[in-house]
Amino acid sequence: MTDARIETQVVRTRADLRAALAAAPRPLGLVPTMGWLHDGHRSLMRRARADSATTIATIFVNPRQFNEAADYQRYPRNEARDLAICTEEGIGLVFAPSAEEVYPPGFDTVVSVGAVARPLEGAARPGHFDGVATVVAILFELIGAERAYFGQKDAQQVMVIRQMARDLAIPTEVIACPTVREPDGLALSSRNVHLAPDERAAAPVLRRALLAARAGWEAGERSGDALRATMRDVLATESLAIPAYVSVADGRTLAELDRIENGGSALLSLAVRLGSTRLIDNEPIG
Ligand code: AMP
Repeated sequence: MTDARIETQVVRTRADLRAALAAAPRPLGLVPTMGWLHDGHRSLMRRARADSATTIATIFVNPRQFNEAADYQRYPRNEARDLAICTEEGIGLVFAPSAEEVYPPGFDTVVSVGAVARPLEGAARPGHFDGVATVVAILFELIGAERAYFGQKDAQQVMVIRQMARDLAIPTEVIACPTVREPDGLALSSRNVHLAPDERAAAPVLRRALLAARAGWEAGERSGDALRATMRDVLATESLAIPAYVSVADGRTLAELDRIENGGSALLSLAVRLGSTRLIDNEPIG
């Protein structure tokens, strides 16, 4: 049997990236990642592949989006395994640059998105979205993809990147893809590897809290406070789960809602600490 898998070309410099892209058939689909790839990343890659003549993934643990140095240091990394997954998924090109290649000496610009970047993760992790918007702006400019694929799991991130691309007139279309979960409901995340067995067993409480609030909304509850209380009550059933925030926010602005208007959209979201690991999840409604 012949091996039908494509070769994955790995480039590490801006110059090699430019050269590789010059010959690449269009349209080009981009999947930005920080590596330690899992089935969530694979789902973005499959969607990109279905839409594109060439797919490119980036693997870069972006130091600027970590607001805690310890979190950056311990972020899981395994490039050989990641490249094997890219090959399995038919990714033609991988850009895996060093920090100096992304931020050359003298680099001194920050892309800072406004209102949509301020609440939730923006409030909890100062500087995080500046780091995200800055690196994604650089990647969008360097790569010039027709489309880029992001996970709904990081719903606020998708909104921040859409705002950034629109405001900076970057023509790459931002496509949001559904959250991939474990059978027990836990959203896949590279950080799940840090969970101790008892923390892993407790982690589906995030999903349970979100689904309880969704059920409340489906039963007619429209009060933001009531739905936030529903989520807190479910989280309180797991003593290991320490909530950072629970939110019922406007689906377009992410402003906290007193009430979900009929016909309006909302984003239920939460961030929870389990031991030293911080997990987020969300559920769009309406
Ligand atoms: P990361 O490597 O964690 O920065 O994630 C890279 C991309 O994969 C981002 O667009 C994430 O939103 C997306 N992603 C991460 N986890 C999941 C998941 N469980 N389901 C779908 N997409 C995900």
